[in-house]
Amino acid sequence: MSQVFMNCPNTGNPVYVGLNMEFNELESHELDTAEMTLEKCTLCGKDHVFRMRDLFLRSDGGG
Ligand SMILES: [Zn+2]
Repeated sequence: MSQVFMNCPNTGNPVYVGLNMEFNELESHELDTAEMTLEKCTLCGKDHVFRMRDLFLRSDGGG
């Protein structure tokens, strides 16, 4: 599993949204338009609303 990130709109930096999935799983959800909320962003402390298409994976950096 890879960690799922969004770009924090306040800092422009990637923030972990608390989800873990594989790329093909994320891709399969890309058209979902349901809004979800990231509470207390670890970068800016605000809540952020996001959709699946706003998300991306980051590898664990192995290697
Ligand atoms: Zn933020």
